Parts: sequence; structure tokens; C-alpha cells
Amino acid sequence: TESLASRDPELFGSITDELGRQRDEIELIASENIVSAAVMEAQGTVLTNKYAEGYPGRRYYGGCQYVDVAETLAIDRAKELFGCEFANVQPNSGSQANQGTFQALIQPGDTILGMDLASGGHLTHGARPNQSGKWFNAVSYGVRRDDNLIDYDQVEAQAKEHQPKMIIAGGSAIPRQIDFARFREIADMVGAYLLVDMAHIAGLVAAGEHPSPFPHAHVATTTTHKTLRGPRGGMILTNDADIAKKLNSAIFPGIQGGPLMHVIAAKAVAFGEALRPEFKEYQKQVRANAVALADQLIKGGLDIVTGGTDTHVMLVDLRPKAVTGNIADKALGRAHITTNKNGIPFDPEKPMVTSGLRLGTPAGTTRGFGEDEFRAIADMIVEVVDGLAANGEEGNAEVEASVRAKVAALCARFPLYPNL
Ligand code: PLP
Repeated sequence: TESLASRDPELFGSITDELGRQRDEIELIASENIVSAAVMEAQGTVLTNKYAEGYPGRRYYGGCQYVDVAETLAIDRAKELFGCEFANVQPNSGSQANQGTFQALIQPGDTILGMDLASGGHLTHGARPNQSGKWFNAVSYGVRRDDNLIDYDQVEAQAKEHQPKMIIAGGSAIPRQIDFARFREIADMVGAYLLVDMAHIAGLVAAGEHPSPFPHAHVATTTTHKTLRGPRGGMILTNDADIAKKLNSAIFPGIQGGPLMHVIAAKAVAFGEALRPEFKEYQKQVRANAVALADQLIKGGLDIVTGGTDTHVMLVDLRPKAVTGNIADKALGRAHITTNKNGIPFDPEKPMVTSGLRLGTPAGTTRGFGEDEFRAIADMIVEVVDGLAANGEEGNAEVEASVRAKVAALCARFPLYPNL
């Protein structure tokens, strides 16, 4: 019964400080969002106590009748949300969803074809330091030099040359719509599985704001915490009963033990929220806000990779201001605008430096920001970056302080978790 605050004030302090940071800063990290109080409530429940190895109705532990209800709700809602036949809601993360899919469908030493990191792919799609790059013969495709769009001709050429067992579409910094039908066509040419990793765009897909991977993908994986606005975790979807069976065995007992039932309950809550009409409105606004942010940044003299965005995410090319990503990321942090440095395609700078910033609108939109607010945020970003352009790495402390005050005023108008 003792509260966390009195039992462990040191740890509690880190949580209240983090709440303060989230309240007082503008969150533009494209992979983050702000979950509802109900999602957090589900995650902070007694379900954390329960071992439930196996799947609903087929568990290796007793006393699973109530967590079965929670997991079944999550599965049914996921299937409804994405219009597919099978869902595994147990992956602890997006990385484990991908790892489970590999375990289910391919063998170590097989060839996989994914987007390279530098073009916007994810580590788990075959990057060298990742298990996917060590255990598989990973080859890659990228974007075209002239327009920075996915080079489908290169995907096809790479597929024909390397004969991969699996082709992976999707990534972490892809601002434009992906043509899943074209990917499937290429996969069929070489007899490969098509895995769509829709982690970034799952919320847009659920709301009909991005084309669905189905019916094209053999398997779709996702995280649940990005645009989908659920708890931190992963999920795997398919329409194929045989593949579904293999996926279930691959997650448990293949790569995981007891599922995180409290997180699965929170996933069920989030999927329920995503089935409501308000979620469609939210995702529309996420995209409209991204367009407003990108347009205003261009007006301020920055470049946007591909000239804009169809989604929630954009890549800012800082080179017109002769500023690098690492320095901009730090200066914006001093002004209480949270972003991440990100390589742009064909980036001349090293990965720890970069020429770009990745910006996204999911968290700000949840907070209630509309297009006017995002245009104002773009102006603040330009002010800070111009301070760097004029003064070098130190930036302009006066400008940063004045932006920090504007950020505080904006955040005060859109209170976060008022009841916490
Ligand atoms: N796949 C994509 C496309 C991602 O962007 C991410 C998250 O960064 C992941 C997978 C991995 O998710 P997690 O961080 O939950 O392991």
C-alpha cells in the first residue's frame, strides 16, 4: 500500500522529472507518441504478475483464464483494425517481431533483401551490427539519387541477382508512401516472402491514411508505440494460416518465454481506441500537421528530403544553412524542442554527425497541436538553426532562450496528463 513516492523517492524522482520534461518540451521524435491514461493504467496492473507461456486456451500455466480474455481482446481488435486473419500480439518489441518472423520463415545463411540504413531502413532489416546482418546474407536496396524515392528498379535488379528468401519493405525514415503491390510483384518473381515492417506507419494504415500492406504482404510486423499510440511493444500479422502457425511457434517457444500480459492488456486498450472514429481524425491531422511543418521549414530556407511528406515523418536537410544534425539536435534540445539527428540519403557526414534531422508529428498532434502550432514550431526551429548558422556550434543563447519561452507558452496551452 505504500506509494512509490515514499517507498523509493530516488526512483520516483526520475519519473516526475521525466513527466516534467514531457510536459515542458515539444516532442518531435517521429517514433514517439503519448499514450492515453487508460493505456498506462492497463500497463500498471496486476497482470504483470502472471506467467502465461503459450497462447489463449493453450497455456503452460494454470490460472490464465482472465489474461486469456485480455490477449483475445488484443488479437481480435488487431485483426479488425488491420483487416487480417491472424495476429500475434506477444512480441516484446518491434525488433522481436522481425526476429520472430525470420525464425519462422527463413534459415541462418539465407539471403534477405532490405532497405539500407542510410536510405531509411531499420537495423533489423539486415544491418551489419544487427543479428539480421550477422546470421543472414543481407543485401540491400536504397533510394534514387535524383529524387530520394525508393528505387523499385533496383529492388527488382537486386532480387533477381541475389534471389533472396525474404524481401523487407518499410523503415524508420521513409517520408513517402510505399508501393506494396510493386514489392509483392518483385517478391513473386523470385519466390521470396514479402515482409512489410509497418512500424512507423501502422497508425496511418489503421486509419486508412496510408495504403495497407494487405493483401500484398505475406507478413506484416509493427511496433505498437509509434503512430499506433499504444504501449511499447510489437505485433505480427498475416492472412496465411500456415504462416501464422509458424509465427506463433517462433515467438513462443522460439525466441520468447512468458508474454508481458500487462503490456498485452495495454495493447488491447490502444487497439480499442484506434477502432474509434476519433482515431481516423487524429491520423488525418498527423498528416496535415506534417505537411504544414514541412512547408513552413522550406519557407524558412531548409530543404526537406523528397520535397515534403505523405506521412507523419520528414527528413530535414540542413545543408542550405551549413549546419550539421548533431549540432542542430543539441541546440534544439537547449530550446526544449526534442528531435533526433538523422542521416539523409547519400549523406556526406558520418552517422554521429549527419546532415539531417528527422521530425515527426504524432506526439504533438496527440497533444492537440494543429497546423498553426506546427507552423509556429517550424519558425522556432528555423530561428534556432539560423542562430547556429550565424554563431557556429555554440548557437545564439539569446535566441535559444527566447524560443524556450515560446515553447513554454505553447506547452502551457496544451497541458499533458493534467490528472497525474
Ligand atoms: N522496425 C522499424 C521500421 C522501426 O522503426 C523500429 C523502431 O525503431 C523497429 C522495427 C524496432 O522496434 P523496437 O525499438 O520496438 O525494437
